[in-house]
Amino acid sequence: MPLKVSIEPREECIGCGNCQANCPQVFELSPEDGLSAIRAEYRGASQAEGEVPDDLESCVKDAAELCPVNIIHVEKVD
Ligand code: SF4
Repeated sequence: MPLKVSIEPREECIGCGNCQANCPQVFELSPEDGLSAIRAEYRGASQAEGEVPDDLESCVKDAAELCPVNIIHVEKVD
């Protein structure tokens, strides 16, 4: 079952880089605005949302826990 990951509200990202450091498979800092973005291979309709496979669950959950502004959300997709 894949996981839905979102960075919401993305404009509250402070660009600290924790998510990229803890889960570089999924997160990157956008070269355009310096804010967190879902990497292109997992990206959905926008750079603030995407779907990742199960085996990245601990990675994205660690990133969510370590985000200082709590804007990374992870949920199971049915
Ligand atoms: S950990 Fe949170 S605040 Fe830091 S870059 Fe990632 S989304 Fe932005």
